[in-house]
Formats: sequence, structure tokens, C-alpha cells
Amino acid sequence: MGSHASEIAAFMDDLKAKNPGEHEFHQAVHEVAESIIPFMDTKPIYRDLKIFERMCEPDRTIIFRVCWQADDGTVHVNRGFRVQVNNAIGPYKGGCRFHPTVNLSVLKFLGFEQQLKNSLTGLPMGGAKGGSDFDPKGKSNAEVMRFCQAFMSELFRHIGPDVDVPAGDIGVGAKEIGYMFGQYKRLTNKFEGVLTGKGLEYGGSLIRTEATGYGAVYFMENMLAVQGLDFEGKTVVVSGSGNVAIHAAEKACQMGAKVVTLSDSGGFIHDPAGMTEEKINWVKTLKKNNGRISEYTKEFSGSTFHEKKRPWSVPCDYALPCATQNEISGEEAKALIANGVKAVSEGANMPTVDAGVKAFLAAGVLFGPAKAANAGGVAVSGMEMSQNSARVSWTDKELRNLLKTTMSTIHQTCHQFGAGHGVNGTVDYVRGANIGGFVKVADAMLAFGVM
Ligand code: NDP
Repeated sequence: MGSHASEIAAFMDDLKAKNPGEHEFHQAVHEVAESIIPFMDTKPIYRDLKIFERMCEPDRTIIFRVCWQADDGTVHVNRGFRVQVNNAIGPYKGGCRFHPTVNLSVLKFLGFEQQLKNSLTGLPMGGAKGGSDFDPKGKSNAEVMRFCQAFMSELFRHIGPDVDVPAGDIGVGAKEIGYMFGQYKRLTNKFEGVLTGKGLEYGGSLIRTEATGYGAVYFMENMLAVQGLDFEGKTVVVSGSGNVAIHAAEKACQMGAKVVTLSDSGGFIHDPAGMTEEKINWVKTLKKNNGRISEYTKEFSGSTFHEKKRPWSVPCDYALPCATQNEISGEEAKALIANGVKAVSEGANMPTVDAGVKAFLAAGVLFGPAKAANAGGVAVSGMEMSQNSARVSWTDKELRNLLKTTMSTIHQTCHQFGAGHGVNGTVDYVRGANIGGFVKVADAMLAFGVM
């Protein structure tokens, strides 16, 4: 990368000037630019035709007002977004996030990553992301329903099964998808596969709920296998207690690991005895009822709650960050390394800051970056789209096998482009995922000419 440092710096200066203040977007592009800019020497036409510049400029960005009424009659105004980044290899596809921290920078970073992630799955899906600064916490069901209906009342114009297929993300689960699908159907009078993550009764796919968390564990299993390692008896630290975290913890337990932490924005719980299926099922119910993870300690003796802290100081063999972006700082990465962490698989999107990624790579930690490690969710969403188009439902067994195979294929792609590029000739999965995702999108864009 050394000889390309000035080209990367100039690229980033331009990007920052064009997109001022969008720090998360800058961060995501910079991480990818460090792999792609040197790689373009192998095929200069990418550089000549400004393929990477084009990937950093969304096809379009839609911003709209979402106005809804609370139970007490007060009127609230939120902002809705859909960033359609790239449809070179398929319809736009990516989740919707409802969280007060949502802004254009966050959604541009997520959409930028999504185009590469979707390409890595091998399925025909372009990249997009959307959402709103609406905070579902503390809202009644009726309020969430009214918000979702108001959000879809504008979004429906911009999406469709062959145009753009949104899904869930932070704050958007099966309940919200149901309200949004219902509103789309009412407005268009069409029953079609316009959203994924739907309920099984109306076109959803088995395994979709579990797919992201399970997939992150499968990706780690693949990285470990290359080194002759596995999960049996290993201590695993997980952050988050949402959809991704719970299923990552569940799968790690099933593989024989001892999962000792979960967290939410209030802090983390440490259960040195390790979690069991019973404990994980209890957390699933807790979260369905909007409970806080701190309540775990009242239910399971021997566990402790650490208010406003993240779990990275707990000694472990493997770490699965599954909450949100920038939740492992450079210092926290160093603490994990000092405590002997051997592998990290990112269930959340961009949970590790740049300094943390560099620290893991320099220490030779097996590091599975989000766009590869958490691609299982969107892969099963792609399978949901196929089932909807064909008006069929695949079996649980078929989908479980497909998810496992897909994660193994993604690992192979990352290995192909990353092997030998890590410290002491190890695999650099960051490079592998970036280039592995880039090539297919870039070659499709070349085929279309300049546009
Ligand atoms: P959920 O809303 O189900 O859960 C999010 C979890 O993260 C909650 O425990 C939440 O705690 C915690 N969290 C969110 N924001 C913060 C914050 N700022 N600080 C501390 N904790 C926080 O979301 P998902 O599990 O679906 O998503 C988690 C991550 O995985 C995100 O990065 C998402 O983009 C990524 N992802 C999700 C996919 C999916 O299929 N759902 C697919 C691919 C990636 P609290 O309840 O206190 O807010």
C-alpha cells in the first residue's frame, strides 16, 4: 500500500470535500480504498474509467418527511431516507434502520458497504440502505404502526421487487416489516416480494431471522478451520442483544463455545458460567418484550452487570461484535489482543474503528470484516426474493444448507484475494472481502459503458 499512499490521500481529500462532515461514510470508503486503489494496478481500466469514484457516489438519495401522530395526539416529524447506491448486478437491496443516530452519513456508509457485501454473496443484488431517525424505544405498538405506515407512504414510490427491496436492520424487525408490507400492499394493490424479513405467513423465508448471526459464526468457523482451530470449549465474547447478537450467541453455543457476555446500550452482562439454550431463549423473550439486558443478572445468579461499559475487557478466545458501528475502539482492540483474542468476526456493520482493524491485523488475529462475516442475512434475503418470484417456499433443511454453503463460498472468495497478504504471510480478510466484492460490480459497470 505504501507506494499508493498519496493516491489514497488525494482520493480521500476529494471524497471529504464532496461529502463534508460525513465521518462514517469517509471511514467506510477509506478502509476499502486502501485495498482497491493498489489493486487497480492489475486492471488499469478500472482507474481510467473511474469505477471506484462511481461506486462512492450513490445512484440517488431520497430524503423525505415522515409525519405521524403519537397516542396522546401530539404530532411528530421525522426524516426518512433511502440511499440507492448501485444496481449494476441486481435490484437495490439493503436494510432500513430506525434509530435516533440515523443520518445521511450513516446510511451512505451502510449502503456503500452493502453493494460490496451483496456482490460477495454471489447473488444478483445491488446495494442500498435506508431508514429514519425515529426512535422506536418507548413507543407503543400503535405508534410504531403509524410511523411505519407513514414511512412507507412515501417510500413505496421508490421501491419494487425488481427495483429496490428493503429489509430490516437496527430497530426494524418482523413487526415493523409487517406494518410496512401491509401499507405497501394497500397503496399499490399488489402482493409482491418488495420487502424481505417478512413473516412466514405472507412470503417470508425460514432461517432469515437467524441468518446474520449464524452466518457470522459460520464465517469464523471457516477462518478457524484454516488454522486447525474450532469453537469447542472456547470462551466467546458477544456484544449486543438484538437479532444478530442473540443468534450469533446461540450458534456459538451450539458449536460448543462458552459465550460469556451480551450487551445493549445500557451496558453488558458477564456470565462466567457461560450461556445455555435456556438462557438464550430467556433473552429472546426479554428482548421481544423490550426488556433491558441488565435484567439478566436478576434471573441468573453468578452473572454481573457492567453499566455503560462494553464487554471487550473480558478475556476471551474469540469476539463477535454484533451491536453497532464503532463499538471497538483502538484501545479496546489492544485490550482484546492483550487478553489473547485469536479471532474476531463482525456481526454488526463496521463495529471496529480503523485503528482497531489495523491492530488486529498487525497482531495476526483472524479478522472477518462485516461485509463478508455478516453477509448471511442478506444472502437469505436474496433467497427470500427467489422464493417470492417463484411462488415457492424452500425447506428449513435446504435453507440451512444454503446459508452454510454461502458463508463458506464467501470465505473462499476472501481467502482467494487475501491469502498471503496478512502479517507473516497470513490471510488478510479485509483485503480479500474488499476486492472479492469489488470485482463483480466493477466488471458489470464496465460492461454498461460510461454512466
Ligand atoms: P437490533 O435492533 O435487533 O439490535 C441492536 C442491538 O445493538 C441492541 O442490543 C442495541 O441495544 C444495540 N445497540 C444499538 N445501537 C447501539 C449503540 N449506539 N450503543 C450500544 N448498543 C447499541 O439490530 P440488529 O441485531 O439487526 O443489528 C445489529 C447490527 O448488525 C447492526 O450493525 C446492523 O447493521 C448489523 N446487521 C444486521 C443485519 C440483520 O439481518 N438484522 C444484517 C447485517 C448486518 P439497545 O436496545 O439498548 O439499543
